[in-house]
Amino acid sequence: MSDIAGNIHFLKSQIPSSVKLVAVSKTKPVSDIIVAYNTGQRYFGENRVQELMDKKDLLPSDIEWHLIGHLQSNKVKYIVPFISMIQSVDSYNLLVKVNSEALKIKRVVDCLLQIHIATEETKFGFSMQELNENMKSENISNLKNIRISGVMGMATFTCYKDQVKKEFGYLRDCFQSLKDNYFKSSDYFKEISMGMSGDYEIAVQEGSTMIRIGSLIFGERQHQE
Ligand SMILES: *Cc1c(COP(=O)(O)O)cnc(C)c1O
Repeated sequence: MSDIAGNIHFLKSQIPSSVKLVAVSKTKPVSDIIVAYNTGQRYFGENRVQELMDKKDLLPSDIEWHLIGHLQSNKVKYIVPFISMIQSVDSYNLLVKVNSEALKIKRVVDCLLQIHIATEETKFGFSMQELNENMKSENISNLKNIRISGVMGMATFTCYKDQVKKEFGYLRDCFQSLKDNYFKSSDYFKEISMGMSGDYEIAVQEGSTMIRIGSLIFGERQHQE
């Protein structure tokens, strides 16, 4: 049994109040989410659409759900009606798809651009080259039913802190360059989502505005995602 409420209070005491804490509840039961909710926690992250759909109907409607895992185009329509933020947008085609589903129901959906910063090829995300190409051709700014609110990234899974620090620093630089070049007049473009249980301290030092924490809140997961 992990002390979910105690863990949340501890984490919040460790990070500046300006940094948002997203509680990553993937694989964890609804009862655990309720315990976290009762501490005042409102941002929750899930990485699978089906699991998110199953859970959200059993939980309070003022939870702000963040999708943090790779999203398939054919599942976009299920989450667009209620999702608070899609953090894991990793292709131009997916942006187009989210935009068209959001347009159908006259919603504007907050999205983060997931950028590939790790050395592992298995992780998802745009390269800066891809982003620059799409932004230069104004492809992205024509999508009026999405609001690009910043960037997200996952560092390499390694114990070498210098490596992690370098990758988070790179993500912050990517954010700044996108901001300066394309989002100067957008107040919405402000989030840098980086930092998980094993590396959130480094992420906060490097300028994270949003950390995504699972196991440090809910305990280790039985089976990995
Ligand atoms: C699972 C997951 C997390 C949380 O991982 P922990 O190490 O348990 O904190 C954060 N971000 C993403 C994208 C994840 O898939």
